[in-house]
Amino acid sequence: MTTIAFIGLGNMGNPMAANLVKAGHAVQGFDLVPENLTVAREHGVTVMADAIAALEDAEVVVTMLPAGKHVLAVYGEIIGQAAKGTLFIDSSTIDVDSARKAHAIASEAGMLSIDAPVSGGVGGAEAGTLTFMAGGSKDAFDRAEPILQPMAGRIVHCGDAGAGQAAKICNNMILGISMIGVGEAFVLAEKLGLSHQALFDVASTSSGQCWSINTYCPVPGPVPTSPANRDYKPGFAAALMLKDLKLAQEAAQGAGAVTPLGAEAMQLYALFNALGHGGTDFSGIIKFLRGDVG
Ligand code: NAD
Repeated sequence: MTTIAFIGLGNMGNPMAANLVKAGHAVQGFDLVPENLTVAREHGVTVMADAIAALEDAEVVVTMLPAGKHVLAVYGEIIGQAAKGTLFIDSSTIDVDSARKAHAIASEAGMLSIDAPVSGGVGGAEAGTLTFMAGGSKDAFDRAEPILQPMAGRIVHCGDAGAGQAAKICNNMILGISMIGVGEAFVLAEKLGLSHQALFDVASTSSGQCWSINTYCPVPGPVPTSPANRDYKPGFAAALMLKDLKLAQEAAQGAGAVTPLGAEAMQLYALFNALGHGGTDFSGIIKFLRGDVG
């Protein structure tokens, strides 16, 4: 049993903390939103008065926060109060620069740290089947792995500080681009009088196959579990896809990478969000491509 401070008990953090409790860990949680604390308490998390109080006897700190500024603020607030050698795991999706800054803050204070963003969404967080993409030293990763296990389906050590965030935004840039490509193909098929099922049957077993068509098909019918079958209820909201595509563009600009399709995907998701569809599943972009949304 390990005592774990868990900061950020929102849509993802709460079910993740619940799985740590189920695995027998003592979880001391804090969030700014009182309703989230009530849910955490129901899951067996010991709710603490603030982030510093959550550190009491903790050997590990997990953060699951909205963006880089929140992670840096929390690290700045608590790092001086943590016992030397405490392991800091940040599972938020944040920009690579902030992730590297967070590692530097932790290392200067004598802590171990990894960035460990996730994919798998709220469903994966509840089921304990998230994919963790980790960046940091081997020592930090080896200590983090058994802590991540009850929340994970897969854990990949991607490299040094920031490598987990880099893997996350590269993966989601592929996803955003491929979903738009698949959406365009279905809209073209509709105009050509080709049925959804026929395009699916061919493309899902031919060179067009990819996760966006085979597992998450953006039209109702061919893949019964995809959000298209429940009026594009997320799933993975378009607002979060836009966030990740923006992070990819920031990283590309900083690193001098040429990513024209990533830039275009970001613009299309920005328009979809601006039209009020940030809460729609990201596969709902097909409605925008079809001209169905106002
Ligand atoms: P969320 O907004 O539901 O949760 C974030 C929580 O952080 C909120 O409850 C907020 O009150 C809390 N918070 C902010 N500042 C705080 C502070 N100083 N101290 C304590 N608590 C603080 O967001 P989420 O959906 O749980 O996502 C969390 C992270 O995971 C984000 O970076 C997101 O991009 C990433 N992510 C989300 C999903 C998803 O499907 N929701 C999937 C993969 C990754």
